[in-house]
Amino acid sequence: TGDLLVVGETIARVGGVISDPHAQTIDAKGKYVLPGGIDVHTHFNLDVGIAVAQDDFYTGTVAAAIGGTTTIIDHPGFGPEGCSIFHQIKKYHAYAKDFAVIDYSFHGVLQHMDDQVLQEIPKLADQGITSMKVYMTYDYMFNDAMLFNVFKAAKKSGVLIAVHAEDDVLIRNLRQKYISEGKKEAKYHAKSRPVISEVDAVKRVLSQAMKADNAPVYIVHLSTGEGLSIIKKARESGQNVSVETCPQYLCLDETLYSLPNHEGLKYVMSPPLRSEKDQAELWKGLADQVIAVVATDHCPFDYKLKKKIASQDFSKCPGGVAGVEARVTLLYSRGVRDKKLTVQQFVKLMAENPAKIMGLYPEKGVIKKGSDADIIILDPQKKEVIKKRNLHENVDYSPYEGFEVYGWPCLTMVRGNIIVRDKVFIGKKGSGKFIKRKRI
Ligand code: MN
Ligand code: MN
Repeated sequence: TGDLLVVGETIARVGGVISDPHAQTIDAKGKYVLPGGIDVHTHFNLDVGIAVAQDDFYTGTVAAAIGGTTTIIDHPGFGPEGCSIFHQIKKYHAYAKDFAVIDYSFHGVLQHMDDQVLQEIPKLADQGITSMKVYMTYDYMFNDAMLFNVFKAAKKSGVLIAVHAEDDVLIRNLRQKYISEGKKEAKYHAKSRPVISEVDAVKRVLSQAMKADNAPVYIVHLSTGEGLSIIKKARESGQNVSVETCPQYLCLDETLYSLPNHEGLKYVMSPPLRSEKDQAELWKGLADQVIAVVATDHCPFDYKLKKKIASQDFSKCPGGVAGVEARVTLLYSRGVRDKKLTVQQFVKLMAENPAKIMGLYPEKGVIKKGSDADIIILDPQKKEVIKKRNLHENVDYSPYEGFEVYGWPCLTMVRGNIIVRDKVFIGKKGSGKFIKRKRI
């Protein structure tokens, strides 16, 4: 309990009683004053070929800000075959500049391996982009040899490799099998990406990173308890691995795929939703600090569009759900309010750990003298029911419709500017800043 003073864009003093007759005062009595949320996994403007994710860097960051997030790191989509790793970054700078209302960065995206890419990795890091993503499935997947080589290069350059860990061989095989058998409902999306497809990919990626002199590795959107237990053992044996999960894997489960009238398509995402047992194990992983980060994988497509494209065939469905606006509140409600996490753990998961892992700390992720004044005020007593019509994400449904939540942030400040008050955006388009991140 105490005061804090913001001067300009940074925090000038923390604690005790501060009186400054020239300062504007905000009374936060009875509320939590916390570091702004950091969501390190969004997909604004993502072009998946059959559709484009519907939030851009304006609508997406406005929704993020209203939900208490003050920095995002976006995962760009793939560029043309064989392109330089600067290709997508250049494109995304143009997407974000003049649009983002909160601070932002990008992960690099790697889609092939050759000498040029290996030389470009440290050069991209010089520009403040110090994490890069590889996929073990989809069109530009990395096999074990490519993973090994990229881990070697990344380790040398102080770059963190983020990995989408799902086994491509099994997924393709099962998808074909179900489709040929005429099993095309949404639940076969989940059945074609079973637990073992994540578990096997996690094992392979950990093994390649370890062989590459224990190169740091970050597993995005972990969905399974079994994957978690493998990572836990690896960490205990000294492997440098960090893990992220998402609100959807903590709050929703696979029974939703069987909803009538194609409503299961709302939850088509990869990896898919899992069992209640997986959910419970992921929550335990958060409390035990094996999982360090809760990010959203925010990638919304209208339910109307999903139904139009994919009601006859799940494999046609653009995958992804919205989440950037509800992340902080969901984690507070289901975590702290439901006594699965302490407030301190909650703050680590939504802000401090992602800042540390992604090279943003201590400018971001902490309330401390000299840090950026990225601050949210959260009212733990205020109850709300999530309804699509009250959200600002540019999509026609929320996967969390009807959820009772507590602690929606009532104020969001980015570098000293109050940009949201009581869920109303009062900031300026384009006021977000690209943040150069430190090497890992
Ligand atoms: Mn992914
Ligand atoms: Mn993603």
